[in-house]
Amino acid sequence: MSLVETLNDSSAAYLRLMARMHKGLVDAGRAPESAFLTAVSKTQPWNVILPVLQAGHRRFGENRVQEAKERWSPVRGDWPGLELRLIGPLQSNKAEEAVGFFDVIETVDRQKIARALAEEIQKQGRRPVTYVQVNIGEEDQKAGILPAEADGFIRECREVFGLEVAGLMCIPPVEGPRGPYFALLRKIAQRNGVTHLSMGMSDDFEAALAFGSNEIRVGSAIFGAR
Ligand SMILES: *Cc1c(COP(=O)(O)O)cnc(C)c1O
Repeated sequence: MSLVETLNDSSAAYLRLMARMHKGLVDAGRAPESAFLTAVSKTQPWNVILPVLQAGHRRFGENRVQEAKERWSPVRGDWPGLELRLIGPLQSNKAEEAVGFFDVIETVDRQKIARALAEEIQKQGRRPVTYVQVNIGEEDQKAGILPAEADGFIRECREVFGLEVAGLMCIPPVEGPRGPYFALLRKIAQRNGVTHLSMGMSDDFEAALAFGSNEIRVGSAIFGAR
């Protein structure tokens, strides 16, 4: 495939995805502007990311601190309005870099991370927006606070560590219907006064939109398989 064909592919896929997101919202009886897209660029080559930037998109998600810095630091100044989000698990020894680099950190899921982020925010005077990740299907292999512990952890983040908890993020189990998991995340958000719901990926974002997601995180449907 030539470079030009590759470029055309990802910007066309991006536009198709935006149209599907729009339709998903309208089908759910929601306003077309009531959700936005985080384009998940992790592990993707620059030649598929660039056309999406050129098409006007500015919000990207990455799952590793180091990879994100290597990819975006050299070009950040060229794309005003760029918003970079950490959507992968964070180790406390990476808190300094994460606070210094990301605009939004969606994966706060334990005391140790909350404390490390709070200390770095204090030190650096830079305050990324923070979300709590919930292990909504209570899966051993997934990161996130358990649903039963979410209320207490959100309160602790706010009251003990001074983090704002602007949103909740989840990745539901791959097997079975996702609706009940999306509904549960929304319920946890509502009773804790959290307004941003980051849920829905390439293969389930329409269901997530029907359950009130206002931020979908889509990678492979735009950029191709990883
Ligand atoms: C990789 C990833 C995505 C995107 O997944 P796709 O299935 O490629 O859309 C979304 N959210 C998180 C947390 C991810 O790690």
